Amino acid sequence: MTTATNTQQTSGTQIAYYHLCHRKLWLHAHHFRMENATNNAHVEEGKLLDETTYNRRAKKWKELNLGHVKIDHFDPSTNTIREVKKSPKLEHAHVAQVQYYLYALEQRGIAGATGIIEYPKHRKTTKVALEDTTRRTIEGWLAEIERISKLEQCPELVQKSYCKQCAFYDFCFV
Ligand code: SF4
Repeated sequence: MTTATNTQQTSGTQIAYYHLCHRKLWLHAHHFRMENATNNAHVEEGKLLDETTYNRRAKKWKELNLGHVKIDHFDPSTNTIREVKKSPKLEHAHVAQVQYYLYALEQRGIAGATGIIEYPKHRKTTKVALEDTTRRTIEGWLAEIERISKLEQCPELVQKSYCKQCAFYDFCFV
């Protein structure tokens, strides 16, 4: 499978889940959905932030739909992607997600884009760019996501500090 095909089959959510929990990635790949079935306050707060950010975005930000890759905020005049997140606690996954968006754009001929991740509650902004080493790393992520998603069994439960914020918390622990 070529990497171009992989960016047509892999979403930003899968990239983030790969960096958070392989069990979560597998559950998502097998169509388990808990985001709308949970009373988890962290999940609800995240959904609300997504909705308000999307509804209040300035006109310069356009939605980009690249098949499996959906980018909520893209400014074509500056070639910039923007992601808005609740907390920088899981920043490594957020950065990976935006790096992947930049990579997916490049695969489609839009080179030189950059990304910003905003954490409004924390007054923090993180800049993201695509480096040569990152391109090779992303190819490794895509291969691993494909391998994990095709496992016959759900990966074993390994508790993480993130679990209580996860939509699958009830599924895994209750
Ligand atoms: S609750 Fe924890 S172990 Fe279960 S899917 Fe979420 S992050 Fe993974």
